[in-house]
Parts: sequence; structure tokens; C-alpha cells
Amino acid sequence: MLLEYVELEEEVANDAGKEAAPKTGHVSIHSSGFRDFLLSPEILRAIQDCGFEHPSEVQHECIPRAIVGVDILCQAKSGMGKTAVFVISTLQRLEPVKGEVQCLVMCHTRELAFQISREYQRFSKWMPAVSCEVFFGGVPVKENEKTLKENVPNIIVGTPGRIMDLVQRKLLSLDKLKFFILDECDKMLESNTMRTQIQEIFRASSRDKQVMMFSATLNKNIRPTCKKFMEDPMEVYVDDEAKLTLLTLKQHYCKLQDKEKNKKLFQLLDELQFNQVVIFVKTDERCMALCKLLNDQNFPASAIYGRLKQENRLKVYQDFKEFKSRILVATDIFGRGMDIERVNIVFNYDMPENKEGQDETTATDSYLHRVARAGRFGTKGLAVSFVTSQADAEILNSVQSRFEISIEELPEGGIDQSVYREES
Ligand code: ADP
Repeated sequence: MLLEYVELEEEVANDAGKEAAPKTGHVSIHSSGFRDFLLSPEILRAIQDCGFEHPSEVQHECIPRAIVGVDILCQAKSGMGKTAVFVISTLQRLEPVKGEVQCLVMCHTRELAFQISREYQRFSKWMPAVSCEVFFGGVPVKENEKTLKENVPNIIVGTPGRIMDLVQRKLLSLDKLKFFILDECDKMLESNTMRTQIQEIFRASSRDKQVMMFSATLNKNIRPTCKKFMEDPMEVYVDDEAKLTLLTLKQHYCKLQDKEKNKKLFQLLDELQFNQVVIFVKTDERCMALCKLLNDQNFPASAIYGRLKQENRLKVYQDFKEFKSRILVATDIFGRGMDIERVNIVFNYDMPENKEGQDETTATDSYLHRVARAGRFGTKGLAVSFVTSQADAEILNSVQSRFEISIEELPEGGIDQSVYREES
């Protein structure tokens, strides 16, 4: 329902029109298996080891085209298996020639780079000749230099700044490159710094390469920029899947004042049945402070935010992924692309904001990325957003109209856990 912040008690107009969407709750999965893609036995075996039975919608659309070398621009909601699209298709076509970097994947955060490199390891498990390395800022560049001198990897996953540095200093040669991949491409190409770096790396790499770009969000303004890097790309926009994530997610808002947030949060953490929970806040300071407060109140929590030192960030991320911690307080740095299976509840302790000079979809994109941490791959989850101002209410309303959903006020009497928790 549309939220009118000032009129606290008043229910706002009828929302009958918004109820219509069917609650299918399930991602459409094709019955044809991965075998139909004619992948190598090594890859099929790894896919089987991962427990993947059927390709997801986006995999079904993209893999057959990707393995014949078509450029691809793809938008599908997070958690739909986009990573596997480029990991599987590049592994299928890569020739593990010693000393040749054939595949370069770039993304905007170090954690994501790390996660993608882990996917390469999983899927190349039965391809011992294939090597993959991850290069990003924050670790001594000497280590990367050493790797490049001693054992040039076939696949590099990294962040643009570090890759550009290695390319500029001629330590990394990309003249044998066959695959140029950007994950969360909109985020990278919207940033002037990263776009310039990406262009330079692009120009320094072989002419004859396949380009693939992926993101959970890809607004119309950025698409032409993406396509400048491509030749006649296949464009796949799985827009409805954004709606689909949000359909399997129960979403509520809670109207309150800033100073009431902590009390409400503690109460909800007590009441709700969570496997793992992520609490999003707007600044590093609030992230640290809230994490401390939670720990003081006997809610063991960890925090991930931009200024945290790189090795600590990775450690916090890994520990959370491995279920060593169950409550994570995060800034938007953690909002995108991260894949944590057990998260079933997300709090917007602070609503996402539209900052000056940013595209007006920034906040609603951010909402989608954040809440998509719960309910991955069409599973159930719950998102609760704290609304303290007119600006927050407006963002919430934009979310509702953009994704055609209705977000209700958090009910007084609690929420039945079957709504947001998978049966185990
Ligand atoms: P995206 O890149 O679209 O955000 P990921 O590639 O991170 O999505 O995939 C999300 C999760 O779903 C991962 O844990 C991945 O291992 C899993 N996954 C991907 N494809 C399949 C599939 N076909 N069957 C089962 N699980 C899958």
C-alpha cells in the first residue's frame, strides 16, 4: 500500500489493483538438463558435483548462445545463476595454453571477485590444466607480479584498478584474450573512474574477443554504453524476475523515529525465526556502532563496510558465508551480488537513498539488491524496512510502483514463520 508518511494513522486509498499478481513463488526452471548444451564431460561432472539439476531461466537463455561466441548483454535478478552462465561457457571454450590469459572477468568489489574465482574453481575442478587467479587492490601488488612471472593464469578475475595497473606496467598481457566479461556492469560503467579503466583495459586486449556483460539491474540509459564494447550482442532482459524475487519475499515496512530503531530491531530479532540476517545501514559509522550495540545486547553480530581493511572484509564475508556468524550489519558495499544461501531476513535499518547526482533508480536498485540477499533462487524470505522520514516513504513508494508490489505495515501480532522460512 502506498505509504503517506505524515498521515500516521490514515490508511491510504485502495490497493486492489496491486493484489492481482499471482503468487507463483517459483522460478521457472526448464526441464531440459545441462546435457542439452553439449558441454564437455569435465564440466558436466562439475555441474553434477555442485548439485545443479536444471538450468535456470537465464542459463537456458544464455549458455547455448554464449558457447557459440555471441556477445551477450544480460540482466536478470541476483541469485538466478548469471555467474554460472559465464563461468560455464568460458570454461567450455577455453584452451588451457600455458602462459596465455584467455579470460578476464572484472567486477566492482573485491568480495565479488573472490566469489567469482571460487566459482571458476568449482566448475574447473576436473580440468587440472586450467588456472585461475584473482587480482584486486588491497593486497600487495608484488604478489600479483610474482604470479604473473611464474605462472600466468588462463583466467583472471579482478577489479579494474588493479588490472589496469598491471596492464599499464606491461606485467599483464591481454593479447591472447578470448573472453572479456563484466559482472555488475552497470555499476562499473556508471562510475567515471571505472569506465575509463575498463576502456583502457579493453583497448589493450586482443581485438578478437567475446564480450559478455551481466547485471541484476540495467537501466535504459546505461545500455548503449555497454553495447559500445560489443558487436551485435544478444540482449537478455529478464525483468520479471525482479518481480519474481519480490513475490517470494514477504516485505513489510515499519514506521518509527530514528531513536526507536534499536529497540524495534532487538524486539524483532527476538521474535523472528532467522537463519541468517543482514541489517543494512547508510554509513560506516552507523555500521560499526550498531554492530557494537548488538554484541552488547547479546546478539553476536559482525560488520562489513567500506573502510574495513580488506583482509578483515574478506574474513567477515567468509565467516558469514560459512555460517560462523548469523547477524551481519552492512552498508551498501555488501548490497550487490553476494551469494549467501541461508539469509532469510533482511532489514533496511536505514532505507536506501537517492544521492545527488545519481540516477533516480539508484535507491530502488539498491532496495532490490539488498532484499534479494534473502529469497535467493526463488526461496522464501522476509524484508523489513524502517521508515523514518518523508524521503524514506517516497523511496518505499517508488519501490512499490516500480516492481508492482504492495508492501504492508508490519503487523502488530508478528508474522507466521511459514511465510518467510523454508521448511527444513
Ligand atoms: P547471480 O550471479 O545471478 O546473482 P549466482 O550465479 O550467484 O547468481 O547463483 C546463485 C546461487 O544459485 C549460487 O549458489 C549458485 O551456485 C546457485 N545456482 C546457480 N545456478 C543453479 C542451477 N542451475 N541449479 C541450482 N543452483 C544454481
